[in-house]
Amino acid sequence: MKVYSNLNSNSSLDDIVQLQRALESIPDAPFFSAVEASMSRISIASLQAELPFLNWLHFFDSAFSQVDIEVDQDTEILVEDLDGFKTLSDILLQYMGTEEGRATLSTHIGFQMIVDFSSVALPMNNEDLDKNSVDQMCLEATKIMLPLAVSAIYVREFVDRGSIAQVRTLAELIKFNFVETIGNVQWMDPESHGATLDKIENIRFMLGYEASILDPEQVDSEYADLSFEDSGFFEMNLQGRLFRRETSCRKMIAPPYLEDIGEEISPAESNAFYSVSRNTVAIPAAYMQAPRYSIFYPRFYQFGLMGFTIAHELFHSLDNIGRQYDIDGNVRQWWENSTIETFEERLECFVDQYSNYTIDGMRVKGSDTLGENLADFGGVKLAFQAYKSWLRSSFDLYPLSTTRLSLEQWFFVSFAQDFCHKLAEEELRDLIYNDEHTPNEFRVIGSLRNLPEFSETFSCPEDSAMNPPDKCELW
Ligand SMILES: [Zn+2]
Repeated sequence: MKVYSNLNSNSSLDDIVQLQRALESIPDAPFFSAVEASMSRISIASLQAELPFLNWLHFFDSAFSQVDIEVDQDTEILVEDLDGFKTLSDILLQYMGTEEGRATLSTHIGFQMIVDFSSVALPMNNEDLDKNSVDQMCLEATKIMLPLAVSAIYVREFVDRGSIAQVRTLAELIKFNFVETIGNVQWMDPESHGATLDKIENIRFMLGYEASILDPEQVDSEYADLSFEDSGFFEMNLQGRLFRRETSCRKMIAPPYLEDIGEEISPAESNAFYSVSRNTVAIPAAYMQAPRYSIFYPRFYQFGLMGFTIAHELFHSLDNIGRQYDIDGNVRQWWENSTIETFEERLECFVDQYSNYTIDGMRVKGSDTLGENLADFGGVKLAFQAYKSWLRSSFDLYPLSTTRLSLEQWFFVSFAQDFCHKLAEEELRDLIYNDEHTPNEFRVIGSLRNLPEFSETFSCPEDSAMNPPDKCELW
């Protein structure tokens, strides 16, 4: 079968599939492991020698010429997974060596373009679409194209500012306890310990949304260079893409660049993040809404959910990946060898523990999920500590419930409750094989069985499942 004769190609579908198979056979970069090993800082001249399948100077020059930025042979760039790129280069050079190969490449690129644009080109011609799905599609496209403008509308219409103010106080309290916990660590050498305290004291919170988002003039000025000259949906998407590429090119070379909740992270996103390179914890406004958060909820619930989330994100700064980034967000060795060795030894316990969990016949990958498991363990420990210290000087409300639990017990119930879910088999498999998180039931059981505070609170007998003798310890 011939495909796309208008692309001047003689390639068959088999050729395209074969090329796609070759591209997919390139091994993935090591999964969430050694950061130093996966990043290379390299000049464009050296990149040309390593990956000769493209004229890189021409490539970067044309990409950045739209924003009047000059690049030359000595300009340095960061390349992730250079080895993977070398394999790609070998495959492409092989295809470029023959006329048929070049035809296959060109058809493949044509295919990719169609796939890339299909979401904005094809559905509009589909008469089966009802009004709801057209509305939904237009909304999604607008969110992608004009994130700041959509965020501004969201914040004006939906955000409860009282929650943000309260979460800020909670975040500062958790951070205070975090610095104290790490300050008490005995196994680090003094120099590494001091540098670690400097780094975590320097962590910045970005909570809710950026204030400038409510200034219409500021939002308008962001879009001063964007005009939609053609009213067609497809053409507007093209103009929007071009505008976004220019914006991202400009930001890529503008140091120091801080992401904010507005353009980079949507305030409507219900998630929380720690950025290793910026040493920031970001919690968008949508994450602070009911049923996850309300200023009217009992404090054990607020500490168990939001407090845990904040603490979990803070601990990412010192997990197996985060600890490789120094206070300025640069990857370098800033701990002494002895401290790194002790840290690595302590991590082995966590890797072994989680590797022993199985669900539906699938084994959890203890090393791929390590960073998240460490953040869970540190997070729940820290949030509980912060709640206990808050309780010493304040009163909390008991829930209206026939279950008689102490406030400390309610804290752990609230923590676990946020993890209640049921996944379809396919989704569970995807989680096990492709996600850095452990399935939720082990996120709860795994972190609490390591916590003496938990077994004390629930009086778990010694050597029972939730109070085993072989608890992992880190901080
Ligand atoms: Zn995490």
